[in-house]
Amino acid sequence: MRSPAILLAAALPLGAQTPKPIANTAPMLAGLDAAAARYATVAKQIWTFAEVGYMEEKSSALLQSELAGAGFTVKAGVAGEPTAFIAEYGSGKPVIAILGEFDALPGLSQDTVPERKPLRAGAPGHGCGHHLFGTASAAAAIALKQWMQANNVKGTLRMIGTPAEEGGAGKVYMVRDGVFADVDAVIAWHPGDDNSITGERSMANISGKFRFHGVSAHAAAAPERGKSALDAVEAMDFMTNALREHIPDGSRIHYIITDGGKAPNVVPDEAEVYYVARHVEMSIVKDIWAKIVNAAKGAALGTGTTYDLQLVGSVYSLLPNETLAKVQQRALEKVGGFTYTAEERAFAERLQKSDAFTAVPLETAAKVKPLSIGAAGTGSTDVGDVSWVVPTVQLSAATWVPGTAAHSWQAVAAGGTTIGYKGMMVAAKTMALTGADLFASPATIEAAKAELVAKRGPSFKYETALGTQAPQLDYRKGSVP
Ligand SMILES: [Zn+2]
Repeated sequence: MRSPAILLAAALPLGAQTPKPIANTAPMLAGLDAAAARYATVAKQIWTFAEVGYMEEKSSALLQSELAGAGFTVKAGVAGEPTAFIAEYGSGKPVIAILGEFDALPGLSQDTVPERKPLRAGAPGHGCGHHLFGTASAAAAIALKQWMQANNVKGTLRMIGTPAEEGGAGKVYMVRDGVFADVDAVIAWHPGDDNSITGERSMANISGKFRFHGVSAHAAAAPERGKSALDAVEAMDFMTNALREHIPDGSRIHYIITDGGKAPNVVPDEAEVYYVARHVEMSIVKDIWAKIVNAAKGAALGTGTTYDLQLVGSVYSLLPNETLAKVQQRALEKVGGFTYTAEERAFAERLQKSDAFTAVPLETAAKVKPLSIGAAGTGSTDVGDVSWVVPTVQLSAATWVPGTAAHSWQAVAAGGTTIGYKGMMVAAKTMALTGADLFASPATIEAAKAELVAKRGPSFKYETALGTQAPQLDYRKGSVP
């Protein structure tokens, strides 16, 4: 029997943008609908675990067991990251990978109620919806595998479990270490407050912790014998704040003092400040980072202290691939959004009245936005690095109440309810359809690769500001109570 995939591939001219509908995807989508309750349970468990970067042992193990149970070969521990994994099915070309994240954010613990109510004060929470991210990706991979088997489709399907997206640059080490070397296309998504294909360029960034070392002394009896590491942090922060006026528009510099000493009556001999610099262009980020490092040097000189720099992360901007975006847009339009029940609407309307909320009509969740490519985005993601080495496509699904900002307690709250789970299944179905479309259309993959090569230019060579260092597995140390 000739497979439908081969028939379709043969029917498509090179670079075709409007392939025919993919054969036999209806059972795949029906299978996802039938498994929605199961995946909601998986996501809720990961939401409850709320494990931060490189500490996602239970979350990673749960997704691995789902994939292994569905017949994938699972390899745990990738690129020096114990919680990373690769689940694989099939063989040969093309190789299509679906990315899945599962790390939580410090300090965002929140119950599934429309007012601020931590489950445990100071504990982490899924403020970026990565419990939905990883679960939808596993669901899409399992559905796609079943479709490949049923239709005798050749090729390799991988789900790549990627830890520590929030600041730990988990995917960067994977890109650097060649995890994506034989991958032809990457499919991803991210929780959001609308249904759209991500056409914006995110911001490149570099982050790191500056730890100053001084000399402690009694702050009243013998201050002249001390050298304050906190003075060095404050001097550095003063200089970087002055710097804001003299860097290009669209730049961002953020910092937190992660160690400011232990007691005011002791001159602090240790102090630490954690910096992030961002801009859409990596070259500008590198320039700003060099200035921040100079501020640290000046602060150390002026205060008689020394410092160490722990580079925590660095990511490229996201390079949208229009060829793949059109494929995913078509898939998303076929899947469509979803409507709220009366109960969900009541929850959402109360949430929209909470602090710092920009209310957007709830009907947004039922719609799909038109495709738009190339605008500058605001956040950063380590999917960026992947997108510079493999054609990559990513969608947003309305897992949060329209108007919700990422990294907020409102995102944690909705992400643990049926609103989050319905949005998650929009993403799972869209990614599965996108994957089926790509397996059936080698010409589309070739066109996507040609677009990537043209966009990044002939002299492009991937290199990360993180150099050869190992993943900073302890970067969240101290952030979990
Ligand atoms: Zn995120």
